[in-house]
Amino acid sequence: MDSSWCTTAMDRGMFCSVCRGRRIQDTSWTDRNPGRRYVKCPNIVCDDSVWIDPPMCARSKQIMSGLLTRINKAEGEIETSRLNERK
Ligand SMILES: [Zn+2]
Repeated sequence: MDSSWCTTAMDRGMFCSVCRGRRIQDTSWTDRNPGRRYVKCPNIVCDDSVWIDPPMCARSKQIMSGLLTRINKAEGEIETSRLNERK
């Protein structure tokens, strides 16, 4: 992979500051940071994580949580119609 986020992740440090293990990339889906990417040490005891993406502005958070709500609603509707088809 040579996409730009990889370069950014490299700049921030690919290795855990505690155990020097290789960090893994993950995406946050909390209300505070929806869709914001970070790298973390897979070792929970290290409690090591570094953001890749910049902090989100209030507007982006609003849009993202709105989209997530719509996606969840749509998925719920799909599931409901699937259940109805089985009847
Ligand atoms: Zn670690």
